[in-house]
Amino acid sequence: MSRRIRSTAMGWLAAAAIAFFSAPVAYAAPSKPAKVVYLTFDDGPSQRYTPKLLDILRSQHISATFFVVGYRCEQFPDIVRRIQREGHEIGNHGFAHLDPKKRTLDEVLLDVRKTDVAVVKACGTRPLYYRPPYGSIDAQEIDGVHRLGHPIALWTVDSMDWKAKSAKAIVNQVERHTRPGSIILFHDGISSSRYTVEAMPRIIRDFRRDGYTFKTLPAGDSLRIESFMPKADDDAVLPRDADDVQGKRRPSVDARRVGH
Ligand SMILES: [Zn+2]
Repeated sequence: MSRRIRSTAMGWLAAAAIAFFSAPVAYAAPSKPAKVVYLTFDDGPSQRYTPKLLDILRSQHISATFFVVGYRCEQFPDIVRRIQREGHEIGNHGFAHLDPKKRTLDEVLLDVRKTDVAVVKACGTRPLYYRPPYGSIDAQEIDGVHRLGHPIALWTVDSMDWKAKSAKAIVNQVERHTRPGSIILFHDGISSSRYTVEAMPRIIRDFRRDGYTFKTLPAGDSLRIESFMPKADDDAVLPRDADDVQGKRRPSVDARRVGH
C-alpha cells in the first residue's frame, strides 16, 4: 500500500512535516519550542484577498509564508513580487492544484517544476518549500520532490477557513489548537478567504498578547508535529469558489500517518 500522507480534511487534523533529504520524512521536534507561530497561506495569489492580507501583515510588521499556485503566479506576477518585496516566504503549492494522488509521479514532479518556473518568472526567486495540494503525498513523491531540492512543509493547525462561515469560527479554531511552534494553514485564494482576512487582525492581536512572535518557515530540517485527533469526514467538501481553482474535495485523514 502506499505510504501516502493525507492530511487535513475535516478538521482537526494535522500533521506537519518539514522534511529534508531523508526518507521518507524526517521529524525532529524541538524539546522546548519557542513561542513562535508560522502563518501560512495557500492557493493564492488572489487579486481579491492577497493584497488585503499583505496590508494587514505589513501594518503589523509580520512575516508569513505564501504557498502559491503556479498558474495564479502567471496571472498575478505583481502580487508575487509584492509578497517577496515585503519580506514573506514563497512556497510551491503546485501549478494547477491537482490532487497528486490522481497523478503519476512524473506528472506531479512536472507540476512542481512548472510552479518553480512560474515563481521565478514572477519574482526571480525559486521557492524553497513544497506543500502538496490537499497535503497529499506518498513516499515516492517525497523522494522526487526532495531530488528537485524542495523540503516538504505541511502544517500542524488547520484554521478550517476553507469551510468557515464567519471570521469568529476561524479565530476560535486557531486559538483553540495553536501551541508554540504551530504551523497554521490559512487560504488566501478561496471565497471564504474573506473571513480569513477579517479574522487575521484579531488572531494577530491575541497571539501577540499571549507573547507569540510570527516567523516564516525556518530553513533547515527542523520540524514540529502536533496531532489533534483527526476525525475523518468524507463529506467535507470545500465550497465552490468563483475566485478559486476548482471545487475541491478534502481528503479524509489517514490517521496512520499522523502523530508521534
Ligand atoms: Zn491548496
